[in-house]
Amino acid sequence: MKKTSPIIASERTYVVEKEKLIPVSEYYGEDTFNNKVMKEKLPKETYKKLMDAVNEGRSLDLATADIVAHAMKEWAIEKGATHFAHWFQPMTGMTAEKHDAFVDPVGVGEVVERFSGKQLVQGEPDASSFPSGGIRSTFEARGYTAWDMASPAFIKRNGISTTLCIPTVFISFTGEALDKKTPLLRSNRAVSASAVNMLKLLGGNGTKRVHANLGPEQEYFLIDRDYFFKRQDLVLSGRTVVGAPPAKGQELEDQYFGSIKERISSYMHDMEEELFKLGIPAKTRHNEVAPSQFEIAPVYEEANLAVDHNQLVMDTMKSVAKKHGLAALLHEKPFAGINGSGKHVNWSLSDNNGNNLLNPGKTPQDNIQFLVFLIATIRAVYKHADILRASVATYANDHRLGANEAPPAIISVFLGEQLTYILNCIERGSVTKATNAEIIDLGISSLSVVDKDSTDRNRTSPFAFTGNKFEFRAVGSSQSISFPAAVLNTIVAESLDYLAGKIKAEGAKSIQQAVMQVLKKEIKAIKPILFNGDNYTKEWEKEAAKRGLPNYKTTPVALKALITDKAIGLFEKYQVLSKIELLSRYLIYTEKYIKDLEIEVKCLSSICMGQAIPAGVAYEQKLADAIGKTLDILDDGKLLSAQTEILKRIASLINAIYSGNKDMLAEVEKANALHDEAKKAQLLCIQVKPRMDELRKYVDELEGLVDECLWPLPKFWEMLFIS
Ligand code: ADP
Ligand code: MG
Repeated sequence: MKKTSPIIASERTYVVEKEKLIPVSEYYGEDTFNNKVMKEKLPKETYKKLMDAVNEGRSLDLATADIVAHAMKEWAIEKGATHFAHWFQPMTGMTAEKHDAFVDPVGVGEVVERFSGKQLVQGEPDASSFPSGGIRSTFEARGYTAWDMASPAFIKRNGISTTLCIPTVFISFTGEALDKKTPLLRSNRAVSASAVNMLKLLGGNGTKRVHANLGPEQEYFLIDRDYFFKRQDLVLSGRTVVGAPPAKGQELEDQYFGSIKERISSYMHDMEEELFKLGIPAKTRHNEVAPSQFEIAPVYEEANLAVDHNQLVMDTMKSVAKKHGLAALLHEKPFAGINGSGKHVNWSLSDNNGNNLLNPGKTPQDNIQFLVFLIATIRAVYKHADILRASVATYANDHRLGANEAPPAIISVFLGEQLTYILNCIERGSVTKATNAEIIDLGISSLSVVDKDSTDRNRTSPFAFTGNKFEFRAVGSSQSISFPAAVLNTIVAESLDYLAGKIKAEGAKSIQQAVMQVLKKEIKAIKPILFNGDNYTKEWEKEAAKRGLPNYKTTPVALKALITDKAIGLFEKYQVLSKIELLSRYLIYTEKYIKDLEIEVKCLSSICMGQAIPAGVAYEQKLADAIGKTLDILDDGKLLSAQTEILKRIASLINAIYSGNKDMLAEVEKANALHDEAKKAQLLCIQVKPRMDELRKYVDELEGLVDECLWPLPKFWEMLFIS
């Protein structure tokens, strides 16, 4: 049980060869088959056909696909690729890839490199070993991957192997979505159609498409890799299931935005270099609140691209960490008692000319448009707070939501003083006539100064308006942002349609007047969701209950929002998810909850029996020996009272751990006897989770009593403060 000294880890230097000393702009995107490369490599006509297909969401004819595939293969081979892979996002929340070599035998003993349009456009991976939530049985194994032309193919390097990755959707033989990308693409279409209709109604024309933008702020921890591998809980579940709090945590507030340590800086540089090559606009990096916690925020992109890129960011963070002797922890709550990690997802809508529809404008007309999109979004959140909550419900995120460091499980909207004032004015009816002059009088013209500075900063709000976008802050750090984004797009599409219907039915003299009359009523209706105060307080919880806002604290309860008639109706209407797809997702998420919890249980149990108790016993033995021998020499039991007390406490903690573990496992067994997954999840949540917490208390106390040299697990202070 000999431990390596922590000093060794801190003194280790990781020299990373600098490959590039050239400006980022010169190699940015070099590993992607992006627009620039396509323009250069494809015949003009092919390029145009491809772009038209991308922009209009059409499929590509096989002859054109052949030409694109050929160019892509030549480009990839130049980059060293030997294989191609359809890269997709199954319901595991991770990415998947099946590699095929370009080689094609021609005659005996000879090959050529080949890549056809058909291979580019479609793949047929065996789908039986991915979570499908009962959509298919294993004997109906066939799944299809289909090229998503809107997301550029890229080169993935892994050791000395190089692969051309083609972003794809993943669907079943019968056309059901088996992945996270398909519903997002469908939701993009839905919100685009509804937003374009709304813009037309408001008198604009010429907008062909609207798209959602996403800017995910990714939080993570970095710890020394040696420590990581000494903790089976971290390796297997991503979280430390035991560990006493360190003497110093984050109370000095000396970490946030602090100067970045050299080893970490080098890591960040190296990681960003990889991201830049992949055309991912990594922009902001800084120390986060907790010790050893950091954030990376790329510039926002079109939703589909942002989702793919966030998956690549998470992969790259982990793989580059290896080179630096570090481990990147993406779990929502790796260390109890220390801030967890989230992923603030910034969301907005833009038209095809790049105009942000959530940007307050300079003219009354612009501001009417802004108000409509603003209210539509708030209404969407109000009507479907439960679904939004469900979209971030995972076992890991339960550790975080409501732990007074992240937004609570109650979804509310923060608007800030100025906008709240304006909405109040509209609601009071001061603008029902809504001539341009009046709109200006009422201060709506000053909407253009609603910027970051005046809508600041209520970090406790789960859904905050921050100047020209909404920031959804309840998303977990390790989760794919695809589903939360798909939910947002869909619920906003519905609200835009709802408002459009109301505006048309209003029968006012002018469109402005109709809009203002509708908004007046709607603001009154959706007001309960608005909250500018401190979301962490008990008072808010009570107040929210009075307002009738849902407060689903745990995943098994929160997930039920996915299978209500309301949810099924919504997703079916917008053709984002069919009833079957929705039910399957509910089942997959519920099963995932169960599995995540059970993995932690097994880790905890194994640590208790295989590490904590043996360490306790070893120290017990040492103490007992010492007590016996000392007594022989000194012959005075009183002098040994301290040792005896420690010995007693250790013995009783060992008992408590032993029986606590047994008790916990017995409850798991009871849950496992149930055949209904939802009930099983609920039972695990209610009966097993508290027992895990209880058990942990004993182990953590034991950690504090046992001889440092005998404790087999790296401690929090080592993991969090040495790098
Ligand atoms: P914060 O101060 O909230 O921590 P950051 O700079 O860390 O801000 O991250 C803000 C994120 O929001 C970035 O990813 C940024 O690109 C993104 N963002 C900015 N404007 C928009 C927008 N209109 N739509 C979506 N995301 C946006
Ligand atoms: Mg930030």
